[in-house]
Amino acid sequence: MAKVKNWHLGRDMEYVYEENRPKRQWSIVFDLNKCIGCQTCSMACKTTWTSGKGQESMFWNNVETKPWGSYPLGWDVKVLEKLGHQEWKKHEPYRGKTIFEAAEPTETTVHFFPTDEDWMYPNNGEDDCTGNVSHGTHLNLPHDQWFFYLPRTCAHCTYPACLAACPRKAIYKRPEDGIVLIDQSRCKGYGECVRSCPYKKSMYNPYTRTSEKCIGCYPAVEQGYQPMCVQNCIGKIRVMGFINPPWKARKDNPVDYLVHQMGLALPYYPQLGLEPNIYYIPPIHANREYLTQMFGPKVDDAIKQYKKIKDDPRTQGLLVLLGSTDRIMHSFDVKHGVAYGYDEKGDEIVSVPVIEHSYERPRYDSKYEAVRNNTP
Ligand code: SF4
Ligand code: SF4
Ligand code: SF4
Repeated sequence: MAKVKNWHLGRDMEYVYEENRPKRQWSIVFDLNKCIGCQTCSMACKTTWTSGKGQESMFWNNVETKPWGSYPLGWDVKVLEKLGHQEWKKHEPYRGKTIFEAAEPTETTVHFFPTDEDWMYPNNGEDDCTGNVSHGTHLNLPHDQWFFYLPRTCAHCTYPACLAACPRKAIYKRPEDGIVLIDQSRCKGYGECVRSCPYKKSMYNPYTRTSEKCIGCYPAVEQGYQPMCVQNCIGKIRVMGFINPPWKARKDNPVDYLVHQMGLALPYYPQLGLEPNIYYIPPIHANREYLTQMFGPKVDDAIKQYKKIKDDPRTQGLLVLLGSTDRIMHSFDVKHGVAYGYDEKGDEIVSVPVIEHSYERPRYDSKYEAVRNNTP
């Protein structure tokens, strides 16, 4: 095992291969406060990439209702149970074990293999609620409740478990953008990646007898466009860009800004040790213990920060740029009430007013002697 730097954990950890970071790293940030669970992202991916034989119940992008929803069934509960009780104190590096460090000596990771039935119910638990709403409801309900939607793609991890476990070395991480791909000509369908990915984002196709996974929409990314699931997001909750590690972070890079500069967006289940490259702005209303388990001990700070955005025009500006362009934004700026996104060359690709002004017309129009109302 090699010693590699994992900045999510704040420490070095053990991994099968030496640290080899790509020139730049594909990444998505999701604002979970805005996801409406419409599944347009799931359908955008499905109709683009997985409409073939053997892919009937394959969703490279899925959206699950937390805490009850999961696809495949119970993936998160099972992986946490396999890893066992671990602790992570606030403002300290993670001192528990990752799935690589907790593995049996003959294994690469702590793992489990979902059954065929586990993949059969992608909408399991949809819109089921639980727990306590501490803010945000005006209803005096006789019971407590909360839920939130969690959209998920492959995280194109810095330390992919799928890649580490593949006995055929069929999985590789592209040096140019960090996208993790399965070479279909090398894959023999042993399923070690399906077993080892804790997020269960590598899936077996019984028709081709190979494993398949999200390809990060690399043909679009290579042309400077964001992935299909990002471009089509109805709630405008997502932005795809290239994240730098904290020691190379740039304040004008949208993803770096949300993750490093503001500490608003957090990786999910960072304690597993993969340095996953999808980041979430946590939902402010959900149970904090649950959120801490999912996003780590920085979740309180992220929520505190999110609540300050109403007084922060720069962050507001960046959040209105989410979903405003199909192109990849390499940098952004907010000037005189307008948010701007720029491409790699620094050319402007989008501009959006930070606050959309509205004008209320008088109810009676004296010129036309007409009363305006909202009924047809
Ligand atoms: S999320 Fe899973 S499939 Fe994707 S790169 Fe990480 S380990 Fe591999
Ligand atoms: S990035 Fe592309 S391949 Fe991956 S989940 Fe989104 S649409 Fe599907
Ligand atoms: S399209 Fe956007 S808003 Fe709709 S479920 Fe997907 S991530 Fe959420």
